[in-house]
Amino acid sequence: MSLLIDGIGSLVTNDRSLGEGPLGLIRDAALVLDGDRVAWAGPRSAAPPADERFDADGRAVIPGFVDSHGHLVFAGDRTAEFAARMSGQPYSAGGIRTTVAATRSAGDEELSRRTASLVAEALRSGTTTVECKSGYGLTVDDERRSLQIAAAHADEVTFLGAHVVPPEYADRPDDYVRLVTTDMLDACAPHAGWIDVFCERGAFDEDQTRAILRAGVARGLIPRLHANQLGPGPGVRLAVEFHAASADHCTHLTDDDVAALAGSRTVATLLPGAEFSTRADYPDARRLLDAGVTVALAADCNPGSSFTTNIPFCIAVAVREMGMTPDEAVWAATLGGARALRRADVGHLGVGARADVVLLDAPSHVHLSYRPGVPLVRQVWKSGRPPSP
Ligand SMILES: [Zn+2]
Repeated sequence: MSLLIDGIGSLVTNDRSLGEGPLGLIRDAALVLDGDRVAWAGPRSAAPPADERFDADGRAVIPGFVDSHGHLVFAGDRTAEFAARMSGQPYSAGGIRTTVAATRSAGDEELSRRTASLVAEALRSGTTTVECKSGYGLTVDDERRSLQIAAAHADEVTFLGAHVVPPEYADRPDDYVRLVTTDMLDACAPHAGWIDVFCERGAFDEDQTRAILRAGVARGLIPRLHANQLGPGPGVRLAVEFHAASADHCTHLTDDDVAALAGSRTVATLLPGAEFSTRADYPDARRLLDAGVTVALAADCNPGSSFTTNIPFCIAVAVREMGMTPDEAVWAATLGGARALRRADVGHLGVGARADVVLLDAPSHVHLSYRPGVPLVRQVWKSGRPPSP
């Protein structure tokens, strides 16, 4: 069954061959979906016929958001910690242990229900591709089941056994690294495509990160890394050295870090929800973009430092606080996210792309940052599936 989305005021395709600029923007456009794929995109006057027709009535259409960084498998609640932080207490990596305790004691069904609910919440605000990490189990069995639950709901699954050293290993962290690089990875690697490490003071240092990434790569996983969030450090350098798909956070960078990213295929994934929710300084997206680094924007949904699934919110903050233009922020949240996940089939609306389409209740994608906090996502098609009632 094919569907013609007609009367599109402005269409972001992210395909330079289809329209103007990096967004491949087409005004007065139409889009044809065939099953779960994009079959055609172009000016309305040239649109081919289709089985069904939907009138966009002058509204903007963009590709579904690709959220390349999420921690969606967890239990528990950290409202009190957030309130305390907003009352002046600093953020540290250790709060993760609160969620670990709650996650370990939760049943599979509860974890699955919570994850599904967050993925559905993300979809309502236009996110059609989701990456999901483990990292709140931190035992062999709890990490494996976290990945299995993630795989049931997310497009991309990442092993993050090296999220934080769990309390039972607090005085012997190298024993935990040994567990991660042996039994835990043996059990978990079959259920994930990616390996991630929280490379940060208070989490895992350079040598530990190197050992864990090496063990993951040896089992066929592709690296991505939490890097340079809370302070300067070796994370970005390691990400580039390991040809990671993405270095995530990138808040505290030296000139050498920026140059290393610019000379690599590693995407810098910026997560403004984390700085927002920890009242920290934002990463400088302008500096990265001016250096030629590929930048992605993601939500970093997690219960401790960024409890949002809302990419339009991240776009608005990135434009207001991080020096991105409205066009750059929309690109970063769509095709940028796809690059960070090395996916060619999402993040754009070129012919053959997965039919992940977002209709905005606005004449232009610029409204995503121009009208912050307003629920502009009117309808979503995921894999061509018609909008839910
Ligand atoms: Zn994260």
